[in-house]
Amino acid sequence: MPTKQKGKCPFCNQAVTPEIVEENTVRRDKLKCPECSEPLYVCRTPGCHDFAKGTAVYDHELCPDCTETAGNVAAEVGKAALKVGTTIATAVFTTLVLAKGKK
Ligand SMILES: [Zn+2]
Ligand SMILES: [Zn+2]
Repeated sequence: MPTKQKGKCPFCNQAVTPEIVEENTVRRDKLKCPECSEPLYVCRTPGCHDFAKGTAVYDHELCPDCTETAGNVAAEVGKAALKVGTTIATAVFTTLVLAKGKK
């Protein structure tokens, strides 16, 4: 059984090495937590090795930590955008997301 590298499961909060349920080249591989058997996907943030929740209706793009970060960053960018305009705000957003992803 092929496996992915270890990361945090958003359902049971364990560091797990998920099993690959379905290998996809275009979309993300569908994974399964070996602890709680919930569906997982690799987080889309560069440098992040945690997992996003898969659900029947919607497969999350980001793990819970990155979702929170993106939310905070969006709030910060919203404030910044009022002052400096959209172009710079986009640059700030990219920088903050990349900085957080490196941890
Ligand atoms: Zn789990
Ligand atoms: Zn993440």
